[in-house]
Amino acid sequence: MKEPIVDTIVVGSGPAGSQCAYNLSSRGHSVILLDYRENIGDKLCTGIVSAEFEKFYPDVSKFIYRRAYSASIFSPSGKLLKIKRKSPQALIIDRESFIREIAFNAEKLDTKLKLGRVVEKIEVNSKFVQVRVKYNGEVEEYTSRSLVLASWFGSRLAKMVGLDTPKTKIFGAQVKIKFNGIDEVNVFTGHSLPKGFFGWMVPLNNNYSYLGILGKENPKEIFEDFCRNLKNRFTTLSFSDDVDIWGITVSPSSKIFSNRIVGIGDVVGQVKPTTGGGIYFSMRSADLASQVLSEGLLSNNLSETFLSNYQKSWEKIFKKELQVGQLARFFYESLSEDEINNIINYLFESGVLDKEISFDWHSELVMYAFKTKILNFVKTPMRKAVQKVIYSLNN
Ligand SMILES: Cc1cc2nc3c(=O)[nH]c(=O)nc-3n(C[C@H](O)[C@H](O)[C@H](O)COP(=O)(O)OP(=O)(O)OC[C@H]3O[C@@H](n4cnc5c(N)ncnc54)[C@H](O)[C@@H]3O)c2cc1C
Repeated sequence: MKEPIVDTIVVGSGPAGSQCAYNLSSRGHSVILLDYRENIGDKLCTGIVSAEFEKFYPDVSKFIYRRAYSASIFSPSGKLLKIKRKSPQALIIDRESFIREIAFNAEKLDTKLKLGRVVEKIEVNSKFVQVRVKYNGEVEEYTSRSLVLASWFGSRLAKMVGLDTPKTKIFGAQVKIKFNGIDEVNVFTGHSLPKGFFGWMVPLNNNYSYLGILGKENPKEIFEDFCRNLKNRFTTLSFSDDVDIWGITVSPSSKIFSNRIVGIGDVVGQVKPTTGGGIYFSMRSADLASQVLSEGLLSNNLSETFLSNYQKSWEKIFKKELQVGQLARFFYESLSEDEINNIINYLFESGVLDKEISFDWHSELVMYAFKTKILNFVKTPMRKAVQKVIYSLNN
């Protein structure tokens, strides 16, 4: 049976795609949401979002494991920097169930949810977008007036539809462990971790925690070392071999639209470069994209020129934030263990971190920190490089 032509095909039912499908359906557009997995939202992720997230997406309250009021940051030498606030700064959520609910809510609004579908080819002509899909060894074809690409990190579909792909990538490894020895987020720097990496232990519920690391190279062996080392600190830790590894794009694409197409989420690098957090930014980006796309569908103007309004509105909110985040990542990746020790000591003693910290919008704190003595702890070439970038960002 030939599928009817719909307004929009959304590829990928992660946070970006599910939110976009929901928004478009709630505005009365016909939508098909395609994903190759059967379990929506089941992708490697820790599920930490900001407290601000709940203001934008209140339904998340049903999926919160914990509210985080504090975090412990360990320096390479083992010194502990504790950050504590009176109000919750972050939420640790059941990401899979939350995303699944968004996709199912979209389905209730008539989004056609089609799982187990691998999108192999996308072609755009003057009137339509044609999508070829593999499903159970068979080929299916779908046609729409527009397409939202919300596939993930490294997706080759981006180039196929004329979107720019993000240049900078990092990689994460994570395992779920049975462990209830912590009651707050623990962050680890240096020690067994190479330059540029950081690690975390995050308490969930029912005596489980996530243990993970993030950095520039493939983290498999580094993760094994990290786990061995942690065992000295937390003697009751036991590990499973179920380690997952996945990438994160930490620089935004320079072009996130083309004729009849918009890209959102990891596939176009809408991720915080500092922590690799992408749930909040991808959903906010989905809100912006669906608004412009909906206007284009209603006015029958899905040209590249019209859809460039999405990139313009996106850049107003996110561009500088992500540039500063990239600078912070570049700076962190350059630091030796001694430099991290000195900076953490300084942060500890100077009270720089007493300033209100936004879990999502790091640029204000990063720019403020660079105005303090932090740069005195690094070598002159790095100090000059950072000052140069700060100057260009301010002018
Ligand atoms: C180790 C690790 C920890 C993380 N922790 C956090 C965290 O604590 N907080 C946070 O905010 N972010 C975190 N992130 C990042 C976060 O997971 C992503 O930024 C977020 O999921 C991006 O959402 P998305 O919808 O763009 O992509 P995804 O969630 O990756 O969804 C894309 C979907 O597209 C589908 N797809 C891809 N290609 C095709 C195809 N060809 N055909 C059909 N379907 C396809 C995939 O199956 C997938 O379901 C973490 C990432 C990693 C690697």
